[in-house]
Amino acid sequence: MFKKILIANRGEIALRIQRACRELGVKAVMVYSEADRDAKYIKLADESVCIGPAPSKDSYLNMPAIISAAEVTDAEAIHPGYGFLSENADFAERVEKSGFKFIGPSPESIRIMGDKVSAKQTMIRAGVPCVPGSEGALPDDAMVIKRTAKQVGYPVIIKAAGGGGGRGMRVVHTEAALLHAVQTTRTEAGAAFGNPEVYMEKFLQNPRHIEIQIMADQHRNAVWLGERDCSMQRRHQKVIEEAPAPGIPRKLIERIGERCVAAVKKIGYRGAGTFEFLFENNEFYFIEMNTRVQVEHPVTEWVTGVDVVRTQIMVAAGEKLPFTQRQIEIKGHSIECRINAEDPYKFTPSPGRITTWHTPGGPGVRVDSHIYANYFVPPNYDSMIGKIIVHGDTREQALARMRTALAETVVEGINTNIALHRELMVDAKFMDGGTNIHYLEEWLSKRIR
Ligand code: ADP
Repeated sequence: MFKKILIANRGEIALRIQRACRELGVKAVMVYSEADRDAKYIKLADESVCIGPAPSKDSYLNMPAIISAAEVTDAEAIHPGYGFLSENADFAERVEKSGFKFIGPSPESIRIMGDKVSAKQTMIRAGVPCVPGSEGALPDDAMVIKRTAKQVGYPVIIKAAGGGGGRGMRVVHTEAALLHAVQTTRTEAGAAFGNPEVYMEKFLQNPRHIEIQIMADQHRNAVWLGERDCSMQRRHQKVIEEAPAPGIPRKLIERIGERCVAAVKKIGYRGAGTFEFLFENNEFYFIEMNTRVQVEHPVTEWVTGVDVVRTQIMVAAGEKLPFTQRQIEIKGHSIECRINAEDPYKFTPSPGRITTWHTPGGPGVRVDSHIYANYFVPPNYDSMIGKIIVHGDTREQALARMRTALAETVVEGINTNIALHRELMVDAKFMDGGTNIHYLEEWLSKRIR
């Protein structure tokens, strides 16, 4: 096992990784920007290093500063968390070239999956079902683009090969709007992701977002850890996640889970990863693979009993997976609500000083957050300030526990989306389970204040 790990992230996930380090008896080094200097989780670390000013590009995305921090503190490995540099193949490569272990897959795997066009091609070859669409990137040829759209069938969605975080996508309903949409997405993608390549997919009308968590070691062992339903989204961003996915026959899930494991073995993937699928009419369609730990990993941890972050560290250190597929059993039901510092109606970010922070507790309640009273939410980063996760023997019990947990939660000084979660937890359709990816937006458009 490593003696010391550097955590190249901030906020709740930085604290989550630090906790895993503690459990494993590994020393944790935190890096931080000037905006995060006073955060308590920095003071909890064994060592900490300031890596630059508040803007991410000068700190959490500053590769030389992070690698120097690992050098001066004698860390052996770097955990990138999620977001920031976690899916940056160049970073993973620089980390390894500088003599550190990157806690994640190989730079090659990250590179292939980071480009959605090459990811899809790899998955087709590995036997994973994908959304019908263009064969690879769209050429710069109006005729070919129109012909492809006709073959795929409207509506289509134009997606940036380098896209992420729900950005770089445009739905097209008619041929009249097609070329302009392709051009606009190309231009935006070039500016936002440094890669103007776009591809086309059939726009599925009412799918659910179902994803499979996988974990692989360096000894050709791989398992899947059940699925998550992340269909409750706003602007392609997940708001609520749960495991297992309500109402989908286990046989269907098992079939796709096994496909994912086979693909992982075929491409020689190591570490944690997620296969994201759209699910419609009892069919799974691969959309992308995330090569890192995800925000929603706790719901999987709770129903499987597997510590995802701890396992990531163990396999990066060269250890074998401490469990086999047969030992993975899904127990009960888990739900996660993402708590964001934002207006619960207009969704504008709401940074500032938190005056009251009272978190819930009791049986089956977990709070992953780095926040405390008098904490200042900096305006520079993502608005997520924590997650409330619950578990119950049944989905009904999990829902009841989430309602109680949200009722106990008090946050003052800033706005949060807790009011939204409270409303959703008593919404009849959500309580039934199995809502599709458009449900939340439709619900919001009809919401009465
Ligand atoms: P990102 O990497 O930005 O998260 P994804 O490819 O994972 O992009 O897509 C994010 C979300 O966009 C999906 O969860 C889904 O809501 C929507 N989406 C993507 N592709 C399609 C499609 N072909 N049909 C319908 N919705 C889609």
